[in-house]
Amino acid sequence: MADTLFGYAGKILEVDLTTHSSKTIEVTPEFAKKWLGGVGFGAYFLWNRVKAGADPLGPDNLLMFMTGPMTGTGSSGTRWNAIFKSPHTGAWARTAQGGDIGPELKYAGWDGIVITGKSDSPVYLYINNNRVQFKDARHLWGKDTHETPQLIEEELKDKLVKVACIGPAGENKVTYAMISTEYFRAFGRLGGGAVMGSKNLKAVAIRGTGEVKVADLDAYWKLVEQQRAALLSPANFWFRRWGTQTYNEWLNDVTQLGYKNFQEAWLDPDKFKTFSGQYLEKTSQLSRRACIGCANRCSTVGVVRTGPHAGLVDEIDYEGIANVGSGCGHYDFRTFMPVEEAIERLGFDLISGGKVISFASELYQRGILTKADLGGIDLTWGNTDAQIALLELIASRKGIGDTLAVGTRKAAQKIGKDSEQYAMVAALGNEISGSDPRSSGAFINTAYLAGERGSCHNAPAGTWDAPDAVRQDKMTLFDSLVVCLFVSVDGWGSGSPINPDYLAMLNAATGWNIDEAEFYKIGERIANVEHAFNIREGFRRKDWEYVPPRMYEPLPTGPNAGDALTPELLKSYFDGLYTLRGWDVATGVPTRAKLEALDLKDVADALKV
Ligand code: SF4
Repeated sequence: MADTLFGYAGKILEVDLTTHSSKTIEVTPEFAKKWLGGVGFGAYFLWNRVKAGADPLGPDNLLMFMTGPMTGTGSSGTRWNAIFKSPHTGAWARTAQGGDIGPELKYAGWDGIVITGKSDSPVYLYINNNRVQFKDARHLWGKDTHETPQLIEEELKDKLVKVACIGPAGENKVTYAMISTEYFRAFGRLGGGAVMGSKNLKAVAIRGTGEVKVADLDAYWKLVEQQRAALLSPANFWFRRWGTQTYNEWLNDVTQLGYKNFQEAWLDPDKFKTFSGQYLEKTSQLSRRACIGCANRCSTVGVVRTGPHAGLVDEIDYEGIANVGSGCGHYDFRTFMPVEEAIERLGFDLISGGKVISFASELYQRGILTKADLGGIDLTWGNTDAQIALLELIASRKGIGDTLAVGTRKAAQKIGKDSEQYAMVAALGNEISGSDPRSSGAFINTAYLAGERGSCHNAPAGTWDAPDAVRQDKMTLFDSLVVCLFVSVDGWGSGSPINPDYLAMLNAATGWNIDEAEFYKIGERIANVEHAFNIREGFRRKDWEYVPPRMYEPLPTGPNAGDALTPELLKSYFDGLYTLRGWDVATGVPTRAKLEALDLKDVADALKV
């Protein structure tokens, strides 16, 4: 059994868009045990195949979609990842995505797709089990992320085909364009949509009718049932009822709900009453949705029932509420949902897209950008139609839209007038997500600094006083298995006592017998290769150790008014984290001893450490 590859499809599809050809990469047991899957597989290929300094929007960049050994096995919360070099930051990028499409790839017989080159005209890739076709997509170019899958379903005469696609933002290489799947789900962060657009790849359509075999189905299913019972327990009631909106009220209470580009982080109760999970449930909730087989069923689909946007349907989660909602001056679901829907339909990352609107709105508030600069748009806070009009300019790169299509930091550098202070970016120049990290009650703060994809709400690595490298490795393991963080061991932020024992699941699925030390070593290995990729690109500790000047100013309102970050807090945090990591504390460059201990001598040689 040891040499049989259970839990995997056993092969990766490699696609060259320049020649419209494909081939198969075998996944050997040795390769699977060393890199696990998901971002682990992505780390191996990105490190080995994308040379330092490669243009993220050039044909040599790789766009990869990777599943893991848990994907499609029937447990709750299995998904897939996209991995590429980011056109937004120039650094390593990974982004996870739920729904049904990741498992579909595995059912089609593939553990992942490695895409290289550039097609000379728009195409979409159609993977129907073992058959791979390059289909003309010229008629789809310009279509949004809701029209595109419908047209592909009609063309293929298959309502069950799963589609990942880009909208106009990706086609026009907006550096924070996302890849959309199943209408409301996304590979959101860091510009995967722009990489896809640069390759003239409009969509990937997948149909799979196979199965994923696990080694010990009885043992595996026992763990699946335990996990399901935990997710359905009373302790998880609120998360199942409201999903991430469970956090709105709590985050407002701890002064963490970013408001108007983090000028505040608290809405007074009078305003907040139209922005709570209860209010959404009463006024706008249409249905609840789950990713394939997930007992958590955490997604809320809402509908605008009154006003000029009546009938508009949108899926709502906390990051949308905080980045596009309160972040852009809204405090009512009915005014913010149309903006969020436009972000998704045009194909922007929700977080960076929201932050670009709030950045431009603050410049407008301060007179740095005028109505004339904005092509006549009155970008007052919470102005739904103005925000949608601005998004359309950005997606088509017209007027001010071209300036804003590269994210807040680079846009500020073009605009000048000291506007960089209003660009809410942290590590590696990536926009901070919806939560203000200043509050002492905040649970997201170190995540904005320590992650390899730059500022990231999904990469917490301990607290300011207690850095935690193992926590980072754990997150890397989740993204390699590939499982949803809301269902995971010691689940970040879910507030539920879920402990499904993923190591036992891995061993039952694969027939391996790896122990906890080996498991964590795999996570640390992958995390070190991600970091080495960024170091090889020229990033150093100072590029992570950054927050906007506003974060050193005291929170002006709310229960934790007065709280602020300090440079000393950041310095002691990084000193501690890099010491734990075994990296050079001054620069963040990994040491040879650490890399060799992780079986990464080739990486140490390449970095010349
Ligand atoms: S917890 Fe929510 S996002 Fe995660 S897999 Fe389940 S339904 Fe999807």
